[in-house]
Amino acid sequence: MGFSTTAIHAGNEPDIATGAVSVPIYQTSTYAQDGLGRHKGFEYARTQNPTRLALEKNISALENARFGFAFASGMAAIDAVLKLVKAGEHVILGDNTYGGTFRLFNRILSNYGVEFDLADTSDVTSLESAFRPNTKLVFVETPTNPVMTVTDLRAVSDLAHAHGAKVACDNTFMSPYFQKPIDHGVDIVVHSTTKYLNGHSDSVGGFVALNDEADAEWIGFVQNSIGAILSPFDSFLVLRGTKTLAVRMEAHDKNGRIVANFLAEHPSVKKVYYPGLVSHPQHELAARQQTGFGGMVSFETGSLDKAKKVLESVKLCILGESLGGVESLISHPATMTHASVPVETRDRLGITDGLVRVSVGIEDVEDIIEDLDQALS
Ligand SMILES: *Cc1c(COP(=O)(O)O)cnc(C)c1O
Repeated sequence: MGFSTTAIHAGNEPDIATGAVSVPIYQTSTYAQDGLGRHKGFEYARTQNPTRLALEKNISALENARFGFAFASGMAAIDAVLKLVKAGEHVILGDNTYGGTFRLFNRILSNYGVEFDLADTSDVTSLESAFRPNTKLVFVETPTNPVMTVTDLRAVSDLAHAHGAKVACDNTFMSPYFQKPIDHGVDIVVHSTTKYLNGHSDSVGGFVALNDEADAEWIGFVQNSIGAILSPFDSFLVLRGTKTLAVRMEAHDKNGRIVANFLAEHPSVKKVYYPGLVSHPQHELAARQQTGFGGMVSFETGSLDKAKKVLESVKLCILGESLGGVESLISHPATMTHASVPVETRDRLGITDGLVRVSVGIEDVEDIIEDLDQALS
């Protein structure tokens, strides 16, 4: 089945009780049982909820995964994955992940005896030296936020598996429409559904998709034991969002390419980060691993002053954190999404004070360009 057919139908069977074509919001905390130990598969809503179950079937199908779990946020999903690791074990974390992911390792997991090292996962040769005998997991994000570095998922998976470690990939930026990490050997996929999967900037959620049965059983156990579940209403919203994922991603990609090319030729822009540009150092790898480049574009203005001018002069693009919604959002990674990353790391990665990130929406692209053009001049 094609991607859109799966997106529209997987998990979306008409409601058994009423025939409702759209999966209802099962806003209930518990379920009537027929007798002791006899029930319809639903006992208590932290453990199971039909709306959440529909979404779990839907997104896992889109990621070519056998199992999927919906969480209250992307961070809750990442935290659940990290509960596959125990005290005394070691994780290799990409050195340019979402700021909140770094914060989770640095400020929380480090208190529980989980060791971690940062590594440039885009450089497989240097990554090899980061493995230790107790390395259990490699956590990568590709393309990275906000400087769009691409990691070769097949190469990293092969390397990790040779060292007896698993690979988790945060696929939030590409969504399963443009990148299916499991097809490249990755073991676990995580998402912030807050972004492209929901796509309408009206829900916060997260997802874990995987194939290994024992790991899936543990993630399900963690989901139920800790209880950071996605609500029925949010499950409904994301389920609605994924139905149009393909058309939205095509539109983000089309606009993203046009905006990236416009910025690349603008005299006030020093550098553009977008894997779809042939000038991107990893354009070939991105073109091989992804089926599109999406709507995330970052650019260097040269200074905090210039970045501030752009960010405060836009009229259509909305100044704000987050990404992946239908509306164009503009942000300043150094003080917003990546404020928790140490300044030395930010400098090394190119997350300068002059860097501006745009989540290119699906408005008419001429309007987005006109807005950026007036803000830049
Ligand atoms: C937003 C984001 C997260 C965190 O997700 P929340 O839903 O905000 O908790 C994780 N990874 C990436 C790449 C993100 O963009």
